[in-house]
Amino acid sequence: MPKVDVLIIGAGVTGAGIARDLSMRGASVMLLDRGDFCSGASGSNHGMLHSGARYAVKDPESAKECASEANILRKIAPAFIEDTGGLFVSLPEDDFGFAEKFKRGCNNAGVDTREVDVAEAREMEPSLSSDMVRAFWVDDGSIDPFGLTLGNIEDARSMGAKVRNYCEVVGIDVDDYTIDAVRFKDQRTGTVESVTPGVVLNAAGAWSPGIAAMVGQKLPLRIDKGTLVVLNGRLCKMLVNRLRPPADGDIVVPSHSSTIIGTTSNGVSSADGNIPTESEVTFLLRETAKVIPGIANARAVRAYCGVRPLIPAGGGGRSASRNFRIIDHASTGVYNLVSVIGGKLTTYRLMAEKISDLACEKINNRNRCRTAKETISEMPTIDPVPGIHDLALLRMAKKNGSEYQNVLEQCVSLPRGKEEVCTCERVLRGEIQYHLRKGDVRNASDLVKRTRVGMGYCQGGFCTLGIISAAMGVYKTAPIEYIESFLNERNKGISSILVGEQLRQEMFKAHLLRSVYGIREESR
Ligand SMILES: Cc1cc2nc3c(=O)[nH]c(=O)nc-3n(C[C@H](O)[C@H](O)[C@H](O)COP(=O)(O)OP(=O)(O)OC[C@H]3O[C@@H](n4cnc5c(N)ncnc54)[C@H](O)[C@@H]3O)c2cc1C
Repeated sequence: MPKVDVLIIGAGVTGAGIARDLSMRGASVMLLDRGDFCSGASGSNHGMLHSGARYAVKDPESAKECASEANILRKIAPAFIEDTGGLFVSLPEDDFGFAEKFKRGCNNAGVDTREVDVAEAREMEPSLSSDMVRAFWVDDGSIDPFGLTLGNIEDARSMGAKVRNYCEVVGIDVDDYTIDAVRFKDQRTGTVESVTPGVVLNAAGAWSPGIAAMVGQKLPLRIDKGTLVVLNGRLCKMLVNRLRPPADGDIVVPSHSSTIIGTTSNGVSSADGNIPTESEVTFLLRETAKVIPGIANARAVRAYCGVRPLIPAGGGGRSASRNFRIIDHASTGVYNLVSVIGGKLTTYRLMAEKISDLACEKINNRNRCRTAKETISEMPTIDPVPGIHDLALLRMAKKNGSEYQNVLEQCVSLPRGKEEVCTCERVLRGEIQYHLRKGDVRNASDLVKRTRVGMGYCQGGFCTLGIISAAMGVYKTAPIEYIESFLNERNKGISSILVGEQLRQEMFKAHLLRSVYGIREESR
């Protein structure tokens, strides 16, 4: 049976960050995910780089962590961060006194903020409502969660980490209070393999209680569903927050070519099977339009939801802590199992550092964490390339980070590699084929995470044939199942926004796919 120093379960941003941290310390590492990378909360969040301001009043510890980690991420992962800056704004209906608490909270937590007068705020962000009564500038930004997670994974791999998606942990054997084998099923082949780990790190997010239960351990967790809506186009330049105690429908994030509004917070009994509802979408559109009136006329192209793995202490929903906790199961009977729960995308690096410190103690590795200083991915240098639009190059660089030059090389050298397959997101055929060849991609939904193909306003209406054609260039057969799973996945997020203009667009898309291309969408 193969042996590794550390086995990490769950390749969301936390697991990916741990794999990179431990690989940098010289440990032998295996990272497994039952689905694709980023298939949990790390692929379904708001993508907000928290300055800490949102938690400054109620959760000062989280605010401090966010403030310091956001600054670290700007240095170590500039390719995946957009420094939009942020504004917290209040409306006449909001509690006027909250602004003073906010100022004090930010001051105490070391969160950089400055009050700006309403006219200046409108100059900074012209999309804001003229009803706004007070505004504060903060150092919020937006993160590409896919790029950040995959960037950590690639870096870990370059240092020898074994990283496999579609490998589900199905059993854990314990002998004499110590895990001596972890069994996992490769979903591609159906075979069950085993590995002997020195330490097992449970980074399975909302699914981590299930992993702990495999060895009879209890893990307290609040599974909290949050819904988000993607709007066509960038409706604002800056990240906009409502200046009031954190509530639903507070945040508007400009992200790539779209705007993401959200979110909600509801306890759910299971991490699986959650979908955005029509009433959540209607609520989010109405609430965020109070701050940015243009939202009322915008086209919602998609909705999605994710599940937060929250520490139950501090009450439910919005009052639950956004802090994280490392749980050493040695004290409850399993010496070499450690779980991590809670936290945020913004604080993943710190979570990874803390759990890796404990893992290193257990395997007697004395090397120290270096992730706060060493870059995951610089923003690549972009030179003009004949036949490729500058914007396509810029987007390719921001999605691929340190892999940019390799991806570009494929676009330039492959036949028709420079062809734009997805015109909404400006994704090139060569880029798609690069990721198909890497071997991690199992279906077109996996391609979406790596390239953003089909993520734009047509949601696959026009690029479907291009994806099939690009896939045929690699596989030589018509990979129709690639497309069916992709369309079904996209459709899950579309059923709750089928009104007005979007309904017309979807009818048009259905006609194109069914009547013109002859492709069936089963979930429709
Ligand atoms: C709606 C929403 C909005 C959010 N917005 C923000 C934000 O704007 N900014 C921010 O900083 N944070 C935000 N967060 C929080 C952030 O997304 C999460 O804290 C973070 O992504 C958690 O990452 P993770 O790796 O711990 O968990 P996950 O990303 O959920 O990863 C867990 C992984 O474990 C895998 N797994 C499960 N069971 C098994 C098994 N048996 N074998 C192998 N693998 C398994 C899953 O497939 C999954 O990929 C948001 C969260 C939600 C839900």
